[in-house]
Amino acid sequence: MGALFQNYARRPIAIVEGKGTEVFDTNGKRYLDFTSGIAVCALGHAHPAIVKAIQEQSEKLWHISNLFESPGQEKLAETLVKDVHLSHAFFCNSGAEANEAAIKLARKHTGKHKMIVFEQSFHGRTFGAMSATGQDKVRNGFGPLVSEFVTLPFNDVEALKAAVDGETAAIMLELIQGEGGVNPVTEEFAAAIHEIHQSTDILLIVDEVQTGIGRTGTRFAFEQTVLKPDIVSMAKGLGGGFPIGGILGTAELFDTFSAGTHGTTFGGNPLGVAVAQTVLDHVFNEAFLQNVQEKSAYLIAKLQEALPHVTVNGKGLMLGIGWGEDVAPYVTALDEAGLLTVAAGPKVIRLLPPLTVSNEEIDEAVAILTSVLAK
Ligand code: PLP
Repeated sequence: MGALFQNYARRPIAIVEGKGTEVFDTNGKRYLDFTSGIAVCALGHAHPAIVKAIQEQSEKLWHISNLFESPGQEKLAETLVKDVHLSHAFFCNSGAEANEAAIKLARKHTGKHKMIVFEQSFHGRTFGAMSATGQDKVRNGFGPLVSEFVTLPFNDVEALKAAVDGETAAIMLELIQGEGGVNPVTEEFAAAIHEIHQSTDILLIVDEVQTGIGRTGTRFAFEQTVLKPDIVSMAKGLGGGFPIGGILGTAELFDTFSAGTHGTTFGGNPLGVAVAQTVLDHVFNEAFLQNVQEKSAYLIAKLQEALPHVTVNGKGLMLGIGWGEDVAPYVTALDEAGLLTVAAGPKVIRLLPPLTVSNEEIDEAVAILTSVLAK
């Protein structure tokens, strides 16, 4: 039975090594990793620059706490807010923690508690983030949730207009719902949120934990919309595999997170910050992002050509494919054929290759998908 809680439905594969997009299991079997550890390993596995950053920083300083100044955090924050309307960062260790910080900041700043969130969203497993998550399977069994999260249908303009009022602190959403099925926000819905955001004091929180750090072909997904969020949460790709999360906020929020209001022991530790800086030095670069967009267009075109009956959703290298059937048996068959993918809800297979994936690896992945889906 083992000494682990069985809270994960683990697949019978133990990956022990990886390089770029390739990973290898305990039997030496090779797979193409189109999960990237669920949108985490942005630069692939064991990227030499990340290995070097960890080696060098680990010989200097791993941890010192937020009792002291942190030049590394300052630089990372400056890199993240360069050329966007956001101006300050707070660092933590995961996506759920980033969303907790976002929710706390929005509540404290507005003095209000009502939060608008959406069905099929996923914001994490801690109490605030879980309460914001619009999926019963995540929330059931844990007793009373944090109060005043109002869950609306996603992309429903009328429901949104009817729900917002003077008691609303914030609207919180993913611009492409990841765990919920790779559901992008519609332009119409983004425009309606923008209109409300512009004309009221309601704050806008965009959860970029999965969509952020180049995953959709721009630094952040919000850059491809009209939206100018007050708070952006991030994690996953930020550390390229090392656990680090954070939020970015506008200058108006600066005073709200004053000394002692929020914190974490490990958040922004020098090791995590050195890795995240290395990730950003690669990803926050026009040529790199252009390449992600080109790889995305290539992958989408190949999928449409090979699998015309399949619907492709998403942006950049965060794509979902579905054809109306339950995908679980296909995910297993893909594993066996050497392509690791991850389901998003019951009927969508998510393709989340490293942002460094090559055209040859895309060709190989599409060939595997074609042979498995044909069965
Ligand atoms: N927000 C989004 C959009 C996510 O996709 C996830 C994880 O899948 C989270 C938050 C939670 O992140 P973590 O698992 O790091 O707590």
